[in-house]
Amino acid sequence: MNQEELLQKDKELISEGLKLRFHPITVKEAKGCYITDTNDQRYLDLTAGWAVANVGYGRESIAKVIHDQYVKLSFTTQLSAPSETMIQLADKLVEIVPGNFEKKVWFGHSGSDANDLISKFLPVSTGRNKMISFIGSYHGQTMGASSLSGHSAQAKFEGKGNVVKIPYPNVYRPFSGISDNLTEQTMHFLEEVFATICPAEDTAGVIIEAIQSDGGIVLPPEQFLKELREICDRHGIYLIVDEVKVGMGRTGKWFSFEHTGIIPDAVVLGKSLGAGLPISAVVGRKEILDTVAAGHMFTTSGNPISTSAAIENIRIIKEENLIENADKQGNLFLTGLHKLKEKYECIGDVRGKGLSIGVEIVTDRDSKKPDAIKTAALCYHCYEIGLLIYNVGIYGNVLEITPPLSITTDEVNEALSFLDQAFQDIENGNF
Ligand code: PLP
Repeated sequence: MNQEELLQKDKELISEGLKLRFHPITVKEAKGCYITDTNDQRYLDLTAGWAVANVGYGRESIAKVIHDQYVKLSFTTQLSAPSETMIQLADKLVEIVPGNFEKKVWFGHSGSDANDLISKFLPVSTGRNKMISFIGSYHGQTMGASSLSGHSAQAKFEGKGNVVKIPYPNVYRPFSGISDNLTEQTMHFLEEVFATICPAEDTAGVIIEAIQSDGGIVLPPEQFLKELREICDRHGIYLIVDEVKVGMGRTGKWFSFEHTGIIPDAVVLGKSLGAGLPISAVVGRKEILDTVAAGHMFTTSGNPISTSAAIENIRIIKEENLIENADKQGNLFLTGLHKLKEKYECIGDVRGKGLSIGVEIVTDRDSKKPDAIKTAALCYHCYEIGLLIYNVGIYGNVLEITPPLSITTDEVNEALSFLDQAFQDIENGNF
């Protein structure tokens, strides 16, 4: 079948519930930072498939590990007869996730099922029913995870009803309209919430993304996480950090919260953990993860293929210094994007950490009105000229740059010149 026929079949057969499409392609193959579609058109990929292919596409060593593991032990149900690889991976995760306390590890398949564990276990573990999360956050699609999410994409769903959502401190779009003392304003809001609709003594946990990614690559003020940790400690409330999208080296440290100096009680991982194989994990305090025996498990949780791929993935990140590269190439991107901002009035804001970068598109800089239509046009035109990029944000107006961490300086420069051309063409109506 050619690409047009495949797309027609896709339209006929695949549920709309699975579709978030930006470009009319089917993907044939991918290597490093490049994707090739079924018409043999090649694209530089700034998405890493929603931040999954952190080590780049088509790694031979991961392919070999998967092959060898399948031949040696294709499957064991880890629930009843664990494999060596699941335990070895848990050992590695306990080592790289900060926290000087007794930790345990849980494995699942997706960021959503991992966040569902938080949603199920925290209330049982503490005897407190309520949870706090943030407007703009995205924690996944399953019942518990979607209840924790505060993203506009989840607004159609009712949710569990025990989660109170508070504003995320967004310096570019402060909830009060005032960006001064934003940390203090948010803490004040939280104390009001504790004093009224969500008593601290009924609150089991706060879940947060240390950088909101699907919410629009929003970075909180520097002291914010520290203050949040402090308020949680004061009220005996667990603090959970969702690192599904920005973790595993993307921001220039293993985990984005490490830029803030805090230690969460549990960390949620997914996406890039398995380099494309389905696997998620929660790494956290023993007392959280041991809450309910046999309480959140799936037959193929922590399967030997995904866990062995994850072990090799971690080895590559370490040995190829991909965390340092994310920091270096991220800075190069930010410098180039700030230059584009000087040129193009529709760029309202450029921000990010490492290779988690957002470019916010507005109708004009004074009103800061989100321009989702122009953002979609930019995404589409990038595709037309050879660059894949997605848009995120609660208003759908943030271009998201999350390429593989293995991206080279030449590739960053190539991406910047594609973006320059795309902005120029869109501004000139030349597309
Ligand atoms: N948490 C965060 C921060 C995410 O960005 C996502 C997905 O985008 C999820 C959780 C859900 O992960 P999954 O799509 O693997 O269920």
